Amino acid sequence: MIPFNKPFIIGNELKYIEEAVKSGKISGDGLFTKKCNQFFESRYGFQKVLLTTSCTDALEMAAILCNIKEGDEVIVPSYTFVSSANAFALRGAKIVFVDSEANQPNICVKEIEKHITSKTKVIIPVHYAGVACDMEAIMNLAKAHHLIVVEDAAQAIDSYYTFSNGTRKPLGSIGHMAAFSFHETKNVIAGEGGLLAINDPQYNERAEIIREKGTNRSAFFRGEVNKYGWVDIGSSFLPSELISAFLYAQLEHIDQIQEKRISIWNKYYKGLKGLENSGYIQLPVIPENATNNGHMFYIVCKNYEERTGLINYLKKFDIHPVFHYLSLNKSEFFLSNNASIDIPNSDRYTDCLLRLPFFYELKEEEQTCVINHINEFYLNK
Ligand SMILES: *Cc1c(COP(=O)(O)O)cnc(C)c1O
Repeated sequence: MIPFNKPFIIGNELKYIEEAVKSGKISGDGLFTKKCNQFFESRYGFQKVLLTTSCTDALEMAAILCNIKEGDEVIVPSYTFVSSANAFALRGAKIVFVDSEANQPNICVKEIEKHITSKTKVIIPVHYAGVACDMEAIMNLAKAHHLIVVEDAAQAIDSYYTFSNGTRKPLGSIGHMAAFSFHETKNVIAGEGGLLAINDPQYNERAEIIREKGTNRSAFFRGEVNKYGWVDIGSSFLPSELISAFLYAQLEHIDQIQEKRISIWNKYYKGLKGLENSGYIQLPVIPENATNNGHMFYIVCKNYEERTGLINYLKKFDIHPVFHYLSLNKSEFFLSNNASIDIPNSDRYTDCLLRLPFFYELKEEEQTCVINHINEFYLNK
């Protein structure tokens, strides 16, 4: 059986969990949380890092920090995970869905521009498959219209974007804030886990308060105030040391993880390029100013029926690829409050995109088997 995903351990995950337990502190913001924060601040230059219990929570924190009020508009790609939109809907925002590019699922900047109104407050670029959105254009639009940019970088660890002046920046360090995920399906995992990276220091103080149930507990622990209390809204967004201990062990091996995943990606690309050249499928596109972080390998089939046929064919060999998002403009929740809208590229990825088995421990012969059966499906039709 070749599953779509398989969580893995790579180093001292269990040892560090044991250390955390024996240290007598397993609630949040202990030694391992600090080590993780330092790792991200020094490796990627994020101005401030706050570990959270999930990327969803990081996005919810971002929505509070953006001061979303009822009726504010937030621009989100419709081809994304629920949380990119839901975190803002929770605060009363009107979600404005826009389409993906025709050649890849990232948000289309021309479409963003068309949907900006006087009520627009935030843009959420989602770096699909860890491939950078057109951040230069998005940041310019945001500047011109005084908008906040929150990168949904859930899939985008260790991926980069190069500006036209040659400056290269890690994804998550470009927008005002960014949210990452360490869910077991991502490159670096902790079961469930995430982080909020803050690149604009005006949000630092409030972010700490929101993460600590609306209290100024963090400032109290630093000795900046002599008692702590309820000063704002917030929630319990910080992970326990058990999560941070697991995560830190993974981070110590990030280069090894990335090297392996990128080699898996390259093997898929080589093995399936012939099918693209013959016009059967569409493969991922990495724009020149973006990098590939080996998060995911997908193919885009001609239509829904063909994708279903391929899934069923691979199932016979115990290979389990999976499709991805249901375009959020087609979701039950959106349609219960809004008229139906057509978002053609997003709808096409909903019907035609298929993600292939992709995990750290995927064996070379397993991958060869997936590639061979996909080629067989198309060439023996
Ligand atoms: C995985 C993912 C999320 C959610 O991450 P969690 O850590 O599970 O909350 C959000 N957005 C995108 C684009 C994702 O891929």
